[in-house]
Amino acid sequence: MTARPSPTLAGIPVANVTLDEATARIADWLEQPGFRRMAVVNAAILLDAERDDAFRATLAAADLVTADGMAVVWATRWLSRLGGRLAERVAAPDVMEAVLAQCERRGYRVYLLGATAEAVAAAGDRLRQRFPRLAVAGERDGYFAEADSAAVAAAIRAARADALFVALGSPRQELWLARYGAQTGARFALGVGGYFDVLAGRRRRAPRWMQASGLEWAFRLAQEPRRLWRRYLVGNAAFLCFLAREWRRASERMRA
Ligand code: UDP
Repeated sequence: MTARPSPTLAGIPVANVTLDEATARIADWLEQPGFRRMAVVNAAILLDAERDDAFRATLAAADLVTADGMAVVWATRWLSRLGGRLAERVAAPDVMEAVLAQCERRGYRVYLLGATAEAVAAAGDRLRQRFPRLAVAGERDGYFAEADSAAVAAAIRAARADALFVALGSPRQELWLARYGAQTGARFALGVGGYFDVLAGRRRRAPRWMQASGLEWAFRLAQEPRRLWRRYLVGNAAFLCFLAREWRRASERMRA
């Protein structure tokens, strides 16, 4: 689909696609049989994946992985040895919005799994307002026991969902989709982190200019400092150290 070389970070190939290219690929998948899952990576997720082999393997085996954060895009532009300079950020909320518009046009059914019962219901209502002809096949909160996962997947299958959006946070949403995604009968699934809370109006997304200038993390930090300070302030410094390790590993691979 694209001739742009794709970089690898923490052993995870990150697709060098634009939002439009990713959306076109997903549109094809929705027309084909089989289950496909997409995941996004940001600095915090890459750090987790570097430490956690199972999480890394789950991400590396996804059908499509894109960069959710500007820090990741910049890193690939600075560090040529990562294997490719990412054309742009392809964030999960933007992909979800584009896929919802497609589902509305083509009559595909969507299912929302995750967040609290109130938040996911409010997110569903918001989508019905914004996409009046969209078929929302079902909604379910994300506070179920691991042991109920097969039943949750069966309920999604019974709802005849085509596209599944999962907001359980990372790494739970990625691990859940790798294990149970195919059982849901959906043809496409994407983990969207806290985006149902944004749709529900419980959290705001940073303005576009902040997203484009790589400051979305600061906006989120200002909204939830107690929960997120460690993730972002420690995480940003840790990400720079991670990049130094990636550079060294890439240099070693080149010498080998
Ligand atoms: N969540 C859930 N089940 C859980 C834990 C979290 O449904 O067991 C939801 C939570 O309500 C929130 C989302 O997962 O809506 C995680 O949001 P967060 O901002 O942590 O995600 P991130 O995008 O940072 O990974």
